[in-house]
Amino acid sequence: MREEDLLQAESYRDRVSTVTDKGKRKWVYALKPSGKWYKYRKIIAWSYLAVFFILPFIKVNGLPFMMINVLEGKFILFSKIFWPQDFFIFAIAMITFIVFIVLFTVVFGRLFCGWVCPQTVFMEFVFRPIEWLIEGSPAQQKKLKEQGSFIEKTFKKALKHFLFFVISFIIANTFLSYILGVDEVIKMIKEPIDQHLGLLTGLIIFTYLFYGVFAFVRDLVCTTVCPYGRLQGVMFDKDTMQIAYDYKRGEPRGKFKKNIERTEGDCINCMKCVHVCPTGIDIRDGLQMECVSCTACIDACNEVMESVHLPKGLIRYASENEISTGQKFHFNARMKAYSILLGILMVAMGFLISTRKTVDTYISRVKGQLYQEVPGGKISNLFEAKIINKSVEDMPVTLKLEDMDGEIKLIGTNQIMLKKESLNEYTFFLQIPQKEITHRSTKIKIGVYKGDDKIQTIKTKFLGPFN
Ligand code: SF4
Ligand code: SF4
Repeated sequence: MREEDLLQAESYRDRVSTVTDKGKRKWVYALKPSGKWYKYRKIIAWSYLAVFFILPFIKVNGLPFMMINVLEGKFILFSKIFWPQDFFIFAIAMITFIVFIVLFTVVFGRLFCGWVCPQTVFMEFVFRPIEWLIEGSPAQQKKLKEQGSFIEKTFKKALKHFLFFVISFIIANTFLSYILGVDEVIKMIKEPIDQHLGLLTGLIIFTYLFYGVFAFVRDLVCTTVCPYGRLQGVMFDKDTMQIAYDYKRGEPRGKFKKNIERTEGDCINCMKCVHVCPTGIDIRDGLQMECVSCTACIDACNEVMESVHLPKGLIRYASENEISTGQKFHFNARMKAYSILLGILMVAMGFLISTRKTVDTYISRVKGQLYQEVPGGKISNLFEAKIINKSVEDMPVTLKLEDMDGEIKLIGTNQIMLKKESLNEYTFFLQIPQKEITHRSTKIKIGVYKGDDKIQTIKTKFLGPFN
């Protein structure tokens, strides 16, 4: 290709589809999508929304199914509580998640953005349909903006923004339920406002945030703010599945002429794929960072192809290799390497979660304390025990010295009762007959028992008078 032609072909990269030549925001009035892919997306979106709003109410054994309480560092996943002490599991889970995202993106491109990203789901299947309902089709919306009467404009805009704000408030409450739990949010609603001013402020900030995003910022979140979108460029390769225009079949473009044999490619240059695009791009220019894989252009083009009796699929899910060489999708070396890594991480995660304890005990001698000789020929050491009960019930436990004679004397209580979901601290004297002590520092084991069941064995050291 000549240099001028190449520059011309690439000139679309010099502009942002949502910015005018004068640098102002160009509002995108995308056509309403319709077709097979939109129908599938609608089913997934509504299922997704149902899960999003119902999940905070689901409890198993009295515990929420999912809660991410970043404020208290308490996380519940699949009704299992994870504490900061489970940080290791979290770190592995985060790495697994990142590898999964990378693998998913390497293979399927921005499928996540178009199908399950909360931004897209709420924008395309909640806020935009409300806008269509109140202000009409995108063409009517444009007309309302340019020629609508003051009363009509004010009424429709006010109604739309009121509903947007109410929905944003509901989303913010649901969001808060994922952080604090639905019971806490309901309690907060019932109690006097002045008791929860901090939370209320957070709720209002999030409501305005969601409202601002869905009413004004919209698809700019995907094209300019979202870091995942920015990372696509480094994750895609020529085998990545994407929404692609089949330029081999489509070019050169030419208008459709009835009853005249076609000498051009299959693209009839009707611009439907451009007019339906929520980010305002022309997919025929090739893969662009602004494409959120929403499939609207596939549906639009298929409808056009059908009407002019040409095969569907001029725009379709395909890899760059598939379009340029006709070769079918294959799992390349990079995808295989990521899959193996993901498999290993998932096995490690499964192992860590299945062997995770409900009670975590840390026992050590109180710092700065030496041994004491006590009546009866015994040596005594002062210990402290920190015991985390991760379950939702209070739990009585006992501590027993294993494999040698000795006695544990709790200080300030006769019984260890672990409070649910908390860190419990106790101190105790451990007294061991002097004849058992053969070294200055003797390795000992203390068993933690729930009834007759040993739930943990702790190894620590006992200090004695020997050198
Ligand atoms: S909708 Fe299809 S035929 Fe129409 S311009 Fe786009 S690619 Fe060409
Ligand atoms: S190019 Fe097609 S898939 Fe990509 S955002 Fe636009 S309409 Fe959606």
